[in-house]
Amino acid sequence: MRSESHDIVVIGSGIAGLSFALHCSAFFPLRKIVVLSKAGINESNTSCAQGGIAAVMNHLEDSYLKHVEDTLQAGDGLCDRQTVEMVVQKAPEEMRQLMHWGVNFDGNGNQPDLGKEGGHSTKRILHCKDHTGTSIIEVLIKRCEEAANIELRENHFVMQLLKNDDSDQACAGAIVCGNEGVYAIKAHYTMLATGGAGQVYAYTSNPQIATGDGFSLAMEIGAKLQNMAFVQFHPTVFYISTEASPFLISEAARGYGAVLRNNRGEEFMYKYDSRGSLATRDVVSRAIYHEMQDSDVEHVWLDFRHLDANDFTLKFPTIASYFTNRSIDIHTDMVPVKPAAHYFCGGVVTNEWGQTSVAHLLAAGECTYTGLHGANRLASNSLLEALVFSKNAAENLKAHFNELVHSDITVPEINCSCSAIQYNGLKKTVQNLMEKYVGIVRNKSGLMKASNRLKDLKNILLQSEYSVNACELRNMLSVSLAVVENSLEQVENRGGFYRVDLNEKLDIKEYI
Ligand SMILES: Cc1cc2nc3c(=O)[nH]c(=O)nc-3n(C[C@H](O)[C@H](O)[C@H](O)COP(=O)(O)OP(=O)(O)OC[C@H]3O[C@@H](n4cnc5c(N)ncnc54)[C@H](O)[C@@H]3O)c2cc1C
Repeated sequence: MRSESHDIVVIGSGIAGLSFALHCSAFFPLRKIVVLSKAGINESNTSCAQGGIAAVMNHLEDSYLKHVEDTLQAGDGLCDRQTVEMVVQKAPEEMRQLMHWGVNFDGNGNQPDLGKEGGHSTKRILHCKDHTGTSIIEVLIKRCEEAANIELRENHFVMQLLKNDDSDQACAGAIVCGNEGVYAIKAHYTMLATGGAGQVYAYTSNPQIATGDGFSLAMEIGAKLQNMAFVQFHPTVFYISTEASPFLISEAARGYGAVLRNNRGEEFMYKYDSRGSLATRDVVSRAIYHEMQDSDVEHVWLDFRHLDANDFTLKFPTIASYFTNRSIDIHTDMVPVKPAAHYFCGGVVTNEWGQTSVAHLLAAGECTYTGLHGANRLASNSLLEALVFSKNAAENLKAHFNELVHSDITVPEINCSCSAIQYNGLKKTVQNLMEKYVGIVRNKSGLMKASNRLKDLKNILLQSEYSVNACELRNMLSVSLAVVENSLEQVENRGGFYRVDLNEKLDIKEYI
């Protein structure tokens, strides 16, 4: 097998991977950095982010303590306070870094126009209208392209991580399938920045790339994962009954004043939480689930009719044009919404410096568990987390770059043909199983059914060829099983995790 050597290989071209590459490029101008993405370089969860990034920029009305407290409250007792404080305090510096790279947040540098989202006690979300992620990614890609020592390779799928045979069993790079076939990239450091896994569910806000490859790659090489049961469901994803990709309606729309109504037209959220439609996502999603079950309907409504539609269109052009394309007039029509799988709060365990339990394997962004989100992520804290940990990881490398002596690579025979071993059918089966048994409200018997069925599918897959499609499906199965197994291990309901059989006697209003 052909092999190449680089100093650092970054797997993922979202905010975590690209910002890490940029910091490394500045710290190590003579080292070679290669960034891989399995699809187009700008196809990522980051590109889909609408709402923005949370940071304390207005110290008159906001404070670090308030941002910390909001994060801890959303995380429902499972956040690591030290991590939360570290991230919150570094947030303004990260916003200035983004502005320095060229991101133009709404408002001006000294006084950004701050938005409000669910669970935040005050306005603190920096944004570029409702296309914050796309605007950030365009800037980061441009900066990476300008850097002499960064190479961006799109349509390069990482199939496996390489492990050194010596005693420290360090991660030594990756096996990649690109346009030119399968080859190995040896590296001194490997950064896993592969994002989330919303695609393991049938209804998700995540794009096609989000199949949880990083979680699975990390598990295979022996890295520690935590809190995989804690999947966040976004309350307001546009309801469509077809197979088309669901479209997210940012929480910032509710921050702007839109309210949720049930099929009887009632503004139901105050029954569940004094924060109404702007309660944290776990609370709102479970309330919607309950309303849908109660009335046996497929969705609830988001009501903009009392708002200034022209001003809304100016502030939320992407969302407004989505409505227009569907002939929805928000002066007169309500918008059908339902919750969808959105964000993985758990993942590969890292320390403050983005180090995993495997030597020379770093991780940042949605594929990680850092202790920031606990049982439920506070809105707009994830882009922030990716920035802070990517920078920390690069700074730590600057202080302690240890070159790896690579052992000989032994790799399996890989057939890179992308022929689909009933790929689409099996993928749909996994997604439907997860949707049915491992959704917002779970129970032990459903989880057991899902576990058995997923194991059967994994066995079928083991006998199949080793192609990109098969790898991706195997990753989806591993991640799904990790979510199921971790759900079965939980002993109490917290934040985004709820199992009926753990708190059977509680009425929905009590557990929300
Ligand atoms: C619709 C939507 C709206 C959101 N809005 C917000 C928001 O307003 N604020 C906020 O803070 N968060 C938001 N989030 C969450 C946030 O966008 C993500 O958590 C964050 O962008 C993740 O960044 P990342 O760099 O970790 O991963 P991603 O941006 O998802 O990037 C993952 C990268 O890994 C690559 N990759 C994956 N597997 C492989 C493989 N096997 N081989 C090679 N490459 C691979 C992909 O190609 C991609 O380049 C939103 C998410 C969605 C889906």
